Amino acid sequence: MEHLQKKILQEGKILSDTVLKVDSFLNHQVDPVLMQEIGKEFADRFLGNGVTKVLTLESSGIAPATMTALELGVPVVFARKKKSLTLADDLYTAEVYSYTKKDTNQISVAKDYLAKNDRVLLIDDFLANGQAVLGLMDVIRQAKAACVGAGVVIEKGFQEGGKQLRNQGIKLESLAIIKSLTNKKVTFQKEDVT
Ligand code: 5GP
Repeated sequence: MEHLQKKILQEGKILSDTVLKVDSFLNHQVDPVLMQEIGKEFADRFLGNGVTKVLTLESSGIAPATMTALELGVPVVFARKKKSLTLADDLYTAEVYSYTKKDTNQISVAKDYLAKNDRVLLIDDFLANGQAVLGLMDVIRQAKAACVGAGVVIEKGFQEGGKQLRNQGIKLESLAIIKSLTNKKVTFQKEDVT
């Protein structure tokens, strides 16, 4: 996606050789026009997969997931990172290690919002080591629903998550794949910006 790559190049801040900050359009302030394009792109890539629900993780997954769900005409559910007051019996839970925060969150989804006939599309902002996607897949498994695949806005191709998920046969669609963040420069696996 050319627009996304341009935004990353123009506004992304390289915090280290492994972490990219994109607070100006995805992780803090949200660019709604870009999110709409992202939603359309994911919807196109997963059209025909019979998606009945989009699942993401709060908070940064919510914007791209909502735009995708809008395009597909299905609801979006976000897993919570904080324990809610709901009884644990009413929840599906999984442990997710956060790459950026270096701590483990228990994520949860109310049983009411995932059913066994659901065909779920996972959407997240970043893919690093795949912990968030694997945690969400665990939740889908507990609900006995089907996972049709995962869409991530930015995949860091130099980390293991993408390889791991693709090796498991999961349909993974990434809208921008970063090859490297070294020397204070973002390099994409495939340059779309001309
Ligand atoms: P994973 O679970 O794949 O190891 O890491 C993905 C999660 O960590 C994403 O949900 C995202 O919130 C966060 N994350 C991982 N790497 C980065 C990064 O380079 N920049 C930002 N902004 N978030 C990241």
